[in-house]
Amino acid sequence: MLQFQSMTALKDAVKVVSFDVEGTMVTTDFSYAIWFEMIPQRYAQRYGLAIEEAIRKIRKEYDSVGDQRLEWYDVQYWFTRFDLGRADIAMEELQNRVNYYPDTKDVLEKLGKRYKLSVASGSPRPFLKHLLRDVEHKFSSIFSSTSDFKKVKTADFYREICSRLGVEADQVVHIGDNKQFDFLEPATVGIRAFHLDREGKSGNAAALRNLAQLADLLDGR
Ligand SMILES: [Mg+2]
Repeated sequence: MLQFQSMTALKDAVKVVSFDVEGTMVTTDFSYAIWFEMIPQRYAQRYGLAIEEAIRKIRKEYDSVGDQRLEWYDVQYWFTRFDLGRADIAMEELQNRVNYYPDTKDVLEKLGKRYKLSVASGSPRPFLKHLLRDVEHKFSSIFSSTSDFKKVKTADFYREICSRLGVEADQVVHIGDNKQFDFLEPATVGIRAFHLDREGKSGNAAALRNLAQLADLLDGR
């Protein structure tokens, strides 16, 4: 934070505040419930297996694809592969597993009065549809790196979203919980990036501990 000459300068320069989604505004409960509860349960039912056996098999299947391939992130791909029917209907059933962190809605309300708000997420759109249901009206743009750009959140992704937002990188603040994808990559292109470490376990002393701290920096006196 010492990089900014003064907080007034920061507030004057910034036009857009960009947020990661999972681990930043919303917990990972919904995704966990899909990958490690719903899919294994349906798989167990479909093939007449005990749940532990289903989880073991499914983890193996997930590993065989791996997180570098886009299929990994595609729920319908797995539903089709396992013959489980329609993922969108199943996901709707888990809407009540979407949990916002306690500071999220207040911070969006506060910062939305002063800045344009934007989403830069690695989650695919079928997830964002559920994860952002209560707050999407607060955002002027929503970008999914995997759905819209077929990539993880690289420097290129951030460059592209600045261009789509019609702003310079240094007019954008981004915050997220993944040190590489939310801090190092956006910082590379000149975005004013903040690493969010809610648990305080990253060892990064400069990380923010919650979104309210960001609101204080951007909207405090
Ligand atoms: Mg995240």
